[in-house]
Amino acid sequence: MNNSEIVQLAHRHMVDIYGCLPIAFVRGHGAYLYDADGKRYLDFFCGLAVTSLGHGHPRVVRAIKEQAEKLTHVSNVFHTEPMARLVERLSTLFGNGRVFLGNSGAEANEAAIKLARRWGHRDGGGRFEIIATLGSFHGRTLATLTATGQEKYHQGFQPLVPGFKLVPFNDVKAIERAIGPETVAIMLEPIQGEGGVVVPHPDFLKEVRELCDRRKLLLILDEVQVGVGRTGRFFGHEHSGIKPDIATLAKALGGGVPIGAMVAREEIASAFTPGSHGTTFGGNPIACAASLAVLDALEEERIVENAAEVGGYMMERLRDIATKFSRVAEVRGRGMIIGVVLRHEARPVVDACLREHLLVNGTAGNVLRLLPPLNLTREEADAGLSIIERVLESTPVPRA
Ligand SMILES: *Cc1c(COP(=O)(O)O)cnc(C)c1O
Repeated sequence: MNNSEIVQLAHRHMVDIYGCLPIAFVRGHGAYLYDADGKRYLDFFCGLAVTSLGHGHPRVVRAIKEQAEKLTHVSNVFHTEPMARLVERLSTLFGNGRVFLGNSGAEANEAAIKLARRWGHRDGGGRFEIIATLGSFHGRTLATLTATGQEKYHQGFQPLVPGFKLVPFNDVKAIERAIGPETVAIMLEPIQGEGGVVVPHPDFLKEVRELCDRRKLLLILDEVQVGVGRTGRFFGHEHSGIKPDIATLAKALGGGVPIGAMVAREEIASAFTPGSHGTTFGGNPIACAASLAVLDALEEERIVENAAEVGGYMMERLRDIATKFSRVAEVRGRGMIIGVVLRHEARPVVDACLREHLLVNGTAGNVLRLLPPLNLTREEADAGLSIIERVLESTPVPRA
């Protein structure tokens, strides 16, 4: 099928929720994707921060193939070696945690929310309320949607789940003021991704950690977007030198295969007991094998270091480019999550990049979000940045 045949067929039959671009991809290699008409695109989008090792990374492909030939699924009633090895690795990366495996970011966060409530019932005097932040994104299930501090995602889904409070991000005093007798946890992204690549001030997470310790609250960090190396460290919170009580991962964890994980400190995780939570596909051997290959590649191929280096280089060059264009308000981010904040809607710039065969994302209205593969080379970075520069030069600034 060619590009437009695929696009039309999908449009006729899919629930209309994604506002897809009219491109159908058939294969990928490294930082490049190829559409059904054979056109090549440089990928600074990575399927929303998922394919962080690029497309078709040999280690991940081999792991998936070998596992598929051996065993696809057995359920959580039994064990498999890939699952056992993965929970061990994630526990170690977190530092002595207990791991729940699911299939997505929302599901990992849902588990974190449920665990916080269970812990509140057992050890927290019945407290259940979770404080989350405005501009956040935690997923599309009802509870994670409620924790998501963006009105547009709530529209038409009320009544939402009780027991959540939203306060401004990057404002410890606002969090402190919001704490009530029922509050059990604070839930945050180390950097807000969908919210526009919002990087909090350097001491924010440390201050929140101290606040949680003082008031006996759990700190839940949603690392679904920034975890697995994107910021130049495995976890985004490592830059702050603190540890959360519960962390969630998904997106890049499976190198493109669906998987999500919640890791919690041992004494909190024990609030979950046999039967209190679960999911049929959790710990799926193919997903776990893919994830182990991702972790091996990150460790053995200097990929996280590369994300810090090339990401830093990109940010520097973008800041340089930005000085030439009054339409750019700010360049912000960390490692390989970069936001170019525009003084106008990002959409025309995103579309123009696409016409130049560069995939980028627009979020929060006016933010051009770059999520390149963590193993991007400087040459590939330069190729993409030149396109962005050219597009900023040639695309008319839309009227407000
Ligand atoms: C994408 C995302 C989610 C939701 O993940 P899904 O896999 O789409 O359910 C949750 N939190 C953050 C920070 C995300 O970026």
